[in-house]
Amino acid sequence: MRKSQLQKYARLLARVGVNVKKGQTVFIEAALDQPEFVTMVVEECYKAGASEVFVDWSHQPTGKLSSQYRTLESLSELKPWAKAKWEYKAEKYACRLWIESEDPDGMKGLDPEKMSKVRQAIYPQVKPYRQALENNHQWCIAAVPGKAWAKKVFPELSESKAVEAMWKAILAASRADGKNPVKAWKEHNADLRARCDYLNDLGLKFLEYKSANGTDFKVELLDDGVFAGGNEKTLKGRVFNPNIPTEEVFTAPKAGAAEGIVYSTKPLSYMGQLIENFSLRFENGKVVEVKAEKGEELLKKMVSMDEGAGMLGECALIPHGSPISASGILYYNTLFDENASCHFALGRGYNECLKGFEKLTEEQIKERGVNDSMIHVDFMIGSADMSIVGVTKDGKRVQIFENGTWAF
Ligand code: ZN
Ligand code: ZN
Repeated sequence: MRKSQLQKYARLLARVGVNVKKGQTVFIEAALDQPEFVTMVVEECYKAGASEVFVDWSHQPTGKLSSQYRTLESLSELKPWAKAKWEYKAEKYACRLWIESEDPDGMKGLDPEKMSKVRQAIYPQVKPYRQALENNHQWCIAAVPGKAWAKKVFPELSESKAVEAMWKAILAASRADGKNPVKAWKEHNADLRARCDYLNDLGLKFLEYKSANGTDFKVELLDDGVFAGGNEKTLKGRVFNPNIPTEEVFTAPKAGAAEGIVYSTKPLSYMGQLIENFSLRFENGKVVEVKAEKGEELLKKMVSMDEGAGMLGECALIPHGSPISASGILYYNTLFDENASCHFALGRGYNECLKGFEKLTEEQIKERGVNDSMIHVDFMIGSADMSIVGVTKDGKRVQIFENGTWAF
């Protein structure tokens, strides 16, 4: 990939992704195999005004060894230096940028039982810092092609050709392949904003999903729910784009209020394993039946991680013909694959989908119906014939999706 195009992409992540403000602290999480691109991003962050930029380098093979050899007890403790780092991030409201590039299969073979327990143990230790940061800092997840990842997506190509093809695919999906990606994102954000405004004006109470594959599902939305998409704002009003790419308009459903059955339309990659051709049946908002042709045990484990893991935290609307869907590429990475299809997420909901959340405590937000869980896992349910009807608070029915795409 041409260096000049990569520089534009790096600039996009610094200026539109985290939108670094003068004097801010930035933490970047990136893998060791990406030194050139990460260097560009660090420089763009400084040019945008960052006072300090730190890179937390990760290395999947040693990370895997750590998970393999360390005891459950050792892995379950948030080490003092990790704690100190979280404290610093929370105190500074540091910007956080994740640059993903890792092998989707890189953690294969780890004991899922052990990994679940580690997550369950670490989550409450990290939660106070995450809560302090939420809506107070800018963050962004984006991606660059690691070699193993590129080979998995383009197995028929040589390694170097696969990486090049992956760069093209990532930049196209991220609207970063043109002359002026920053401007392209301005337009894209405006389009998503207009759709959110339309949906928010309708005052919807339910969404009803139907598809020929058997999906027949009704979900209730929050009483004071809002649809969001594209960029977001911190409480102080700093705009940022949490995901690059993003195509979705999403909201938080009311936890505990969904009925019917949904069928997956794409495989779900969870903890390095694929769950395929599955269905989830809900009663009173909770998963009561799980079926999968592949990975059923893992899926069952996932929905019982904690109380909220078997309830929905997100309803996302994405046209079947979105650029990522139209590319036909399976990325084996949620950041991309979730933008190919309408999806739900099991687990944690987003507070910002509740109007006035900033004046409420975590407990009150939960009471209003925003789901809480240690997991947030997207799964795809969109299809070419999907119909979604919205039912408004006063009982009017409005077609939201028709034949897999926007009906407005
Ligand atoms: Zn989503
Ligand atoms: Zn999600």
